[in-house]
Amino acid sequence: MTASSLFALIVTGITLQVGIALAVAFVRRRRAYADLEKRMAGNQAPVRPQVSAPSPAAWSDFRPFRVRSKHFEDRAQSVCSFVLEPADGGAVPAFAPGQFLTFRLTVADPTTGQSKSIVRCYSLSDRPGGDTYRVSIKRVPAPAGRDDLPPGLASNHFHDHVLEGGLLDVKAPSGHFHLDPRAVGPVVLVAGGIGVTPMISMAAACLHENPQREVWFFYGVRDGADEAFAATLREWERQHPSFHLHVCHSRPAVGESEGRDYHHCGHVDLALLRQALPLRSFDYYICGPRAMMETLVPALLEWGVPAERIHYEAFGPASLPKLETSGQKEAPVPKPPSQPLSVTFSRSGQQVAWTGGSLLELAEANGIAVDCGCRAGGCGMCQTRVEQGEVEYEHSPDFDAEPGTCLLCVGLPKTNLVLTA
Ligand SMILES: Cc1cc2nc3c(=O)[nH]c(=O)nc-3n(C[C@H](O)[C@H](O)[C@H](O)COP(=O)(O)OP(=O)(O)OC[C@H]3O[C@@H](n4cnc5c(N)ncnc54)[C@H](O)[C@@H]3O)c2cc1C
Repeated sequence: MTASSLFALIVTGITLQVGIALAVAFVRRRRAYADLEKRMAGNQAPVRPQVSAPSPAAWSDFRPFRVRSKHFEDRAQSVCSFVLEPADGGAVPAFAPGQFLTFRLTVADPTTGQSKSIVRCYSLSDRPGGDTYRVSIKRVPAPAGRDDLPPGLASNHFHDHVLEGGLLDVKAPSGHFHLDPRAVGPVVLVAGGIGVTPMISMAAACLHENPQREVWFFYGVRDGADEAFAATLREWERQHPSFHLHVCHSRPAVGESEGRDYHHCGHVDLALLRQALPLRSFDYYICGPRAMMETLVPALLEWGVPAERIHYEAFGPASLPKLETSGQKEAPVPKPPSQPLSVTFSRSGQQVAWTGGSLLELAEANGIAVDCGCRAGGCGMCQTRVEQGEVEYEHSPDFDAEPGTCLLCVGLPKTNLVLTA
């Protein structure tokens, strides 16, 4: 064979390979777009896929847990972990990494000074299988420039008043946002700020069950002082070749340098994922502030990631429906009803027109007292009987409401309604 025919053969081979690769990429992308178009045609928000059926609640109602220890996870000392053991000496049931605990606390009402009961959800931040649970809680201050408002009730109560040896009322682990640590497929875990807690649990579980599993961990914080679990993450990076860590500092502190203190300057965004990830199919698990989810999830869909491979959770509104502060991003306004809908609260004997917002906001705006906790569809405190009509949700809630009931905090009327409230 002559040199020129050998050269022609090589060129033909390479051209063929490139052609096949392009054709495969084209077909994959067309499928992803077809999927996206179908959803957009149906005018649906991206649905949160269910990873698998959540395990049945390990116990019902609240159970007392004792704080075995507490310690900070970040240099700024704004994230504190609480390690909990059952006060009744019973077993610590397993959970799925990504699930959360629901707490009932008695705190002082900042306006009246009287004691009141509040309910909040906190993700489990350690892997399942131990003889304790761990949650890691970020102290929430009043919104910037709003010193007139009280700081976060539950988070500050945890930091300041929940001590080692103290007792807490805890509901069993729950939530649909979790991964299967026994699966083998590669995963991308994306955390923004305190959204890191379920991601730590997921990563720890994956590395424990199958240290070969490819885990890509993207974590966005402002600077090194805000980085929680820094030592653990760096340790995993050193110990596990399959664990790929990308820490992003959006505003690195003076003296911090790229490559030594953090991997990238800026936010975790699609450009970074595209640059860092190898060409492969991943399952994406994302938890972070609303702004991050609102940009990253649609960007991933547009990039061609199938909706069923994108799993996400936002830590929801806390105790308040809307933050009316200048710097704060407002909650998305639900689409207004195409026809006027009425909601009757049978117990309080009020019939009111719904003009948008959740059923909980509607009840509160009309002075109807409703028990509620997380305001994010997680704790089930606002479960209310639906006497007539239908309720819909923008995203399927974490709490599985009983048949014939709805969750007011994330529920919207689909038809005229009569509710037992
Ligand atoms: C499934 C799930 C998992 C979660 N996991 C975690 C976790 O692992 N770690 C974690 O730290 N958090 C987590 N959260 C968030 C947590 O549940 C709480 O929402 C958070 O701690 C804030 O609660 P808080 O009681 O401290 O603040 P709230 O008392 O609820 O206050 C929230 C904010 O509102 C401000 N505010 C007070 N009054 C007003 C007013 N009148 N107008 C406007 N603003 C006002 C407060 O100053 C504060 O900034 C999770 C949430 C969910 C739903």
